[in-house]
Amino acid sequence: MRVNLAGFNVEKTILEKDSSLNSDQLTPEIISAAYARISRSTDSVEVLRKKAAENVRKARRSNRNIVFEMGHSSIAEHAVFNLDVEGVSRLALEEIERHRLASYTEKSQRYVKVGSDYLIPEEWQTPALQKKLEQLHQECSDFYFELLDRKVPGEDARYYLPFTTTGQVGITVNARSAEHMILAFAASPLAEMRRLGTTLLHVLQKVTPSLIRYVEPSIYNQREYSLGLYPAVIASGSSGKRVEGKNTISNQNGTTATVRLHSFPEQGDDLILAIRKMRKEVISLEAAKKAVTAMNNAEKNTHYRNLFQNIKAWDSLPNEFEHLSFTWEIFLSGAAFAQLKRHRLAGMSFGPYQPTGGFTHPASIPGDLMDKADTLVAKSQSTAEKIASPAAVYALLSGFRRRIIWTVNLRELYHFSRLRQDVHAQWDIRLIADKIVNEVQEKLPLAGALLGGKDSFTEIKKKVMQN
Ligand SMILES: Cc1cc2nc3c(=O)[nH]c(=O)nc-3n(C[C@H](O)[C@H](O)[C@H](O)COP(=O)(O)OP(=O)(O)OC[C@H]3O[C@@H](n4cnc5c(N)ncnc54)[C@H](O)[C@@H]3O)c2cc1C
Repeated sequence: MRVNLAGFNVEKTILEKDSSLNSDQLTPEIISAAYARISRSTDSVEVLRKKAAENVRKARRSNRNIVFEMGHSSIAEHAVFNLDVEGVSRLALEEIERHRLASYTEKSQRYVKVGSDYLIPEEWQTPALQKKLEQLHQECSDFYFELLDRKVPGEDARYYLPFTTTGQVGITVNARSAEHMILAFAASPLAEMRRLGTTLLHVLQKVTPSLIRYVEPSIYNQREYSLGLYPAVIASGSSGKRVEGKNTISNQNGTTATVRLHSFPEQGDDLILAIRKMRKEVISLEAAKKAVTAMNNAEKNTHYRNLFQNIKAWDSLPNEFEHLSFTWEIFLSGAAFAQLKRHRLAGMSFGPYQPTGGFTHPASIPGDLMDKADTLVAKSQSTAEKIASPAAVYALLSGFRRRIIWTVNLRELYHFSRLRQDVHAQWDIRLIADKIVNEVQEKLPLAGALLGGKDSFTEIKKKVMQN
């Protein structure tokens, strides 16, 4: 056996400092070209890499042929980029992070003071529109800093910042996903996204001309990438009244989110045991299911205790847990959405922000500032109404809500619960996670028994093992 380190990411200025390096060879395409030939060549991988490095022009021709003529796009996944993206709006960050096959680290709006840096989108181009948006941003920013002065945490004060607020993100992405991103951005109804797409294409094509090609959006792409994103009309509506109901989460300042379970696996506890049985014995799933159904509760419980026995807080659950999927409809604030969408192993479809559906006011907002908060919320809506464009959304604040459909399997739900029910989790997403987990545990009392935040893992496990 031999394992060769074929490449790794090196900070770009370090490479540029070495003038002896052949700049033509500073491309991840060499790795893609070499790996692309593994399946048809008798050469060792090391030799293939050497050959690709010696003739980059030929390597690029080979890539173009294999990726674009033969359609083996997966070889583009061997070329990986690190991208610093700065000065993009909160709205753009949402659009960027829709792309799940990539890694992101974003400036935290919980821990870093934001509020003063913002962007005026191209669509808000007349001086009158620009002024309106600037005024709104100034008032929101003043309120944000007033809240901080009153000891409201930054993670709550940000609910009153509009989507024009800018941030930065570090992205690690391969060429195949990057191509998809560029295409999606080019298809966007937002000028900011289209500009980001063009910039990305320019930056990446310089180092990988042979791997990124399909970036012209079709009508189909344009329709799909604007679907559910932006309402044509931002109708005025009420802000944050408290509503009670089985699916509703509220605080003293009103409703914060609603969470409704749409579908779940019947007999899910049994299915996991049956699949495990099938893996241990030479039997069909049908036969395994019959055997599990015949067990009494105490026997099933014993099987689950065995399964959970040596699990630690950071372990992921066995892969059988992936066969149980739940679909939720969640109506949540922009701030909570920003966190939920970061969980990549789930299916998410979202609707537009819906100002008529109320506003999530954090519980920490002092009572004497609630009128001011409401005035700002109304001003955000009336500013958004000034422009009949998808870019109206830039004037909305992070406390406005949108509806999402979230489909997630039990294995990922465990991971989500460990992070988002933990004491360090932000309150809005934590309340949503609590509600989700309560309902999962009702449906799957055995398989869901160990759900819970990292901080309470030891205690939860002790209880489960004693049962
Ligand atoms: C308290 C808290 C504070 C946070 N603060 C910040 C912050 O300041 N800035 C910020 O950007 N984010 C922050 N996050 C978000 C966090 O970094 C994650 O993006 C988010 O929690 C999603 O979890 P995940 O990345 O573990 O995995 P998911 O996307 O939920 O995926 C589940 C698991 O799949 C595997 N996986 C998925 N994708 C990959 C991949 N590409 N490569 C390898 N393994 C993969 C991993 O095992 C992962 O744990 C914070 C989260 C919490 C809970």
